[in-house]
Amino acid sequence: MSAKLLDGKSLAAQIKEKLKREVDQLRASTGQVPRLVNIMLGNDHGSCAYANSQKRVAEQIGIQYELVTLPHNISQQDLIDHIKRFNRDEHIHGIMIHKPVPTHIQYRVVANYVDITKDLEGINVANIGKLIVQETKLIPCTPAAVMEHLHSTRVPLRGKEVVIVGHSEIVGKPLNLLLLEEYATVTVCHIATSEAGKLMEHVRRADVLVVAVGKPALIKGEWIKQGAIVIDVGINQVGDKIVGDVEFEVAQKKASYITPVPGGVGPVTVVMLMRNGIEAFKLQTKSKVKV
Ligand code: NDP
Repeated sequence: MSAKLLDGKSLAAQIKEKLKREVDQLRASTGQVPRLVNIMLGNDHGSCAYANSQKRVAEQIGIQYELVTLPHNISQQDLIDHIKRFNRDEHIHGIMIHKPVPTHIQYRVVANYVDITKDLEGINVANIGKLIVQETKLIPCTPAAVMEHLHSTRVPLRGKEVVIVGHSEIVGKPLNLLLLEEYATVTVCHIATSEAGKLMEHVRRADVLVVAVGKPALIKGEWIKQGAIVIDVGINQVGDKIVGDVEFEVAQKKASYITPVPGGVGPVTVVMLMRNGIEAFKLQTKSKVKV
């Protein structure tokens, strides 16, 4: 048996079509389209490549996207002042702060200055809190992309044993909440799980496995339960190749569905950012929007 590939590019293309239609409707009913800004500190080549892909996807959907580059050595207060200015600007509907930020900037502090209705990545603590009670549509993009992949399989999550490896604020923790909403039984593993020598035993019983760590081949293919769904979020450069956190070749023989790396979660994540941009726009133009 060989798993079906969960092709992120084709899933992203389908969602982009839907979002494009929604933007067309918004343009018709409000005379405006969402305008998003990505604040980048310094001009790192790798980060620019990611921002360029966001810009390309925004253009495909009909969203305005602007990369605002500020000096790498900007003070935290000056950065906060820029964010406050963007918060007040009614022509800007979504704001994100490009990561990584320089070490003198406390990301958690500045992220909380992004207006909660313009919070493109859903990382303001107020939105994270609202996620618990399902009161926000501004959902962190990578967990949202994982959910899109899972829904695309049409396998019900209710009652399934789901194991997440990695408990970061942007992936594992919010994903845990999204899965609980679907009545999956969720186990979240992290470094201490590995230290306790228990990672394999958790992975082995996963009907659905999501790995977001950033360590190539952390998850051995032979650990995968027969028929499991495997979502590999990890992105690792190994020589001249990009690989995930799961030993793909062996895992593919045991899983029912598996995401490739690259080309799995990544392309859908960028589209989720745009979906948040549309939701943010709707929050701010609520009274005018008819769709
Ligand atoms: P973080 O470094 O913030 O989190 C990594 C997590 O893995 C932490 O919870 C850490 O635990 C845990 N961890 C580390 N080592 C082990 C181990 N040996 N066993 C079990 N758990 C371990 O990373 P991110 O969440 O930001 O990203 C994770 C990966 O996903 C990276 O490769 C990143 O590039 C990729 N990524 C991909 C995206 C996409 O769109 N495809 C988007 C975002 C990220 P602890 O904190 O306790 O040490």
